[in-house]
Amino acid sequence: MTTCTPGVTQPLLRVMTNLVFALQLAAVASAPISHIHYEVTADSANVADRTLGVVTTFDVDGSGQVMLALPGWTPGAYEMSWFARWVHDFTVTTADGRPLTWDKADYQTWRIEAAGAKSIKVSFRYEADTLDNAMAWTGHDFVLFNGTNLFLYPVGRDVTSPTVTVHTHAGWRVATGMAAAAAPGSYGAPNYHDLVDMPFFVGRFDIDSVRTVDRWVRLATYPVGIVAGARRQAALSAIAKVIPPESAVFHDTPWSSYTVLEIADSSFGGASGLEHQNSHVDIITAQGLESDFIPSLYAHEIFHSWNVKRLRPAEMVPYKYDAPEPTPWLWVSEGITDYYADLAEVRGGVVGDSGFYDLTAGKIDQVAAAPTSALTDASLTTWIHPTDGSEYVYYPKGSLAGLMIDVIIRDASDNRRSLDDVMRELYETTYKKGRGFTAADWWGAVSRAAGGKSFDEFNRRYIDGREPFPWDTILPLAGLRLQADSVRELRLGVFSAPDSSGHVRVVNVEPGSSAAEAGVHSGDVLVSIGDVAVTDVNFGAHIRARYAAATPGTVIPVTVVRDGSTMTLSAPARFRTRVSAHIAVDPAASAKAKRVRSGMLKGTVGAAAS
Ligand SMILES: [Zn+2]
Repeated sequence: MTTCTPGVTQPLLRVMTNLVFALQLAAVASAPISHIHYEVTADSANVADRTLGVVTTFDVDGSGQVMLALPGWTPGAYEMSWFARWVHDFTVTTADGRPLTWDKADYQTWRIEAAGAKSIKVSFRYEADTLDNAMAWTGHDFVLFNGTNLFLYPVGRDVTSPTVTVHTHAGWRVATGMAAAAAPGSYGAPNYHDLVDMPFFVGRFDIDSVRTVDRWVRLATYPVGIVAGARRQAALSAIAKVIPPESAVFHDTPWSSYTVLEIADSSFGGASGLEHQNSHVDIITAQGLESDFIPSLYAHEIFHSWNVKRLRPAEMVPYKYDAPEPTPWLWVSEGITDYYADLAEVRGGVVGDSGFYDLTAGKIDQVAAAPTSALTDASLTTWIHPTDGSEYVYYPKGSLAGLMIDVIIRDASDNRRSLDDVMRELYETTYKKGRGFTAADWWGAVSRAAGGKSFDEFNRRYIDGREPFPWDTILPLAGLRLQADSVRELRLGVFSAPDSSGHVRVVNVEPGSSAAEAGVHSGDVLVSIGDVAVTDVNFGAHIRARYAAATPGTVIPVTVVRDGSTMTLSAPARFRTRVSAHIAVDPAASAKAKRVRSGMLKGTVGAAAS
C-alpha cells in the first residue's frame, strides 16, 4: 500500500474496531462444504441505495454446523476493519427456499444449522459506501468491491475453485484481474486467497491498455473522461516505463496481464494505492491527477506484485483474515518497495538522475521530521495506527535503508552485486518454494551479495536500532554527498483537505499559530491567502514562494467562507527555518564510486561506468 495525504486523516474509527479484536471467541471449524459460488448484483438500483446484492451457494459435504466468516481486513491494508459491519438482511435457506436457523459465533462468523440440507443459499445486502481501496464503494454509475468485503469463507476449511458471477446492465463493464469462466459474466479462482486478491470495477469507466515486457497492462479509470487525452497518454507512458526495470530485478514477470484500477474523486484527500497479485486499486484526489506522485504510485504498487504479494515475510504466509498478522519486515515489504519505485522511475526514464536524488532527499527530510523509531518497531506497530507520527515511517526510512544496503553491497562487490541480487535470490528460494522469508533468509542473502560481509552491527544500529543513518560514510561510496540547506519559510499553521465539492476546507488549526491568531476555524473553506487563490491542496507551496521575502509580522489577509458568509481575516506573517536535505554528485568521486552510482541508477552490475 502507499498513501500520500496532504492535510489530516481521521482513522479513529478503525482504531476503535481494532481494540475489540481481543474479545473474539475461538473459532470452530465449519462442516466441509464444496462448489462455493458467489453472485454479486451491481446495477443502477444497487448504486441508488448504495448496497450490493450478494448470494452465496454451496453444497454441504458432512455433518455439523456450517461456520461462515467474512474477513476482518484486506491484505496490504494493515488494519482491522471487520467487513461484517456492512452486512444487512442476512438470510439462510436451503436451495429450495426452506429457511434455516443461524446465529453469530463471533462478530464476523455466522453459525448455520444445516439440518440435513445438501445445498444452502446465503443472501445479504452489503453497504458499499466507503471510498477506500480495501473496501466497497458506489459512484452514480459504478461499483468498486474487494472479495474480502463480500465473499464468505468456511472457517478452518480450504475453498477449492470458487466462482463468481457479476449481474449488471448490458453496457456496464467489468474489470478485474480474475480469469473469466465459461458462463457469461462469470469468473473463477483456484482458491480463496486468490479469489479475494482480485478486486472488481463494475459500471461505466474508461479502459484501454499498453504493451510492455511482452504483456498487456490495462488502465481502467473512473469516472469516464477524468483521465483523458494527454493526461491518459502520460499515465500509460509512465506505466509502460516503470515495469521493465522492475521485471529486470527478478528476471521474471509473474502475471500474464496486469490491471491498474484507478478512481479519481475530489472528496478523497491525497492518493492511496493497494496492491494485488495482478492488479492494484488507486484512489486519487481529482486535483492530484497530474502530480509527480502518480508515476511513483504506479511504480510502487506494481513492484508489490513481486515484493509482498509473492516474496513475503513468513509472518504473513499464509494470510489469515480473522486477526492481524504483525511482522517486523514491513520496512522491506513497503520501504524497499518504495526504493524500487524510485529506481524504476530513474531506470525507466520517468525522472532523471537529479529527480532520483530529489526523491531520496525528500525521504531524508520525512524521516528527520518523524519521531526517532526503529524500522522493526514501526513495522510491527502500524496495525494500531500509532498517533506519535511514527505510523508510516517505515516507508521513507525503509526505502533509505534499502538504498544503504544497495550501496554497501555494490561497494563491497565493486558493483558486481546489488540489492537486486538479494531480492531475486529470496524470490527464488522462499516464494518459489512456497514459503515466506525469515530474518535468516534476509540477512543471509544480503551478506552473500556483499561477499560474506556481516550485517549484524548494521542491523543492530540502523534497522532494529534507532541510530541516525550514516550518510556521511554511505553516500560517498556512491559518489554522492548530503548537503543540508536552511530554508526560511512562511508558516500559517492550517491543515486542510478537499471536501466533497472540491473546496479546500480547514481540517485543523495549530494552536498558537498565525492562523489561530487570525481566527481561522476548522471547517472554514479557504478562498485566498494574500493574493494567492486557494484552488487545490497544493496552495502551500505557492504561498511560501509568494511570501518568502516578507517581513515577519506583515499582515496577510486570509479570505474564508464560514457558514455561507465570506469573511477576510488578518494573519501575521510568521516564519520558521527548516533544514532541507539535498543530494549532490561528488565531483571528486573515485572510479569505483562512479561505478556504484551508475550501477544503482541504471540497474546494472559490472565494470561499466558513466
Ligand atoms: Zn505499498
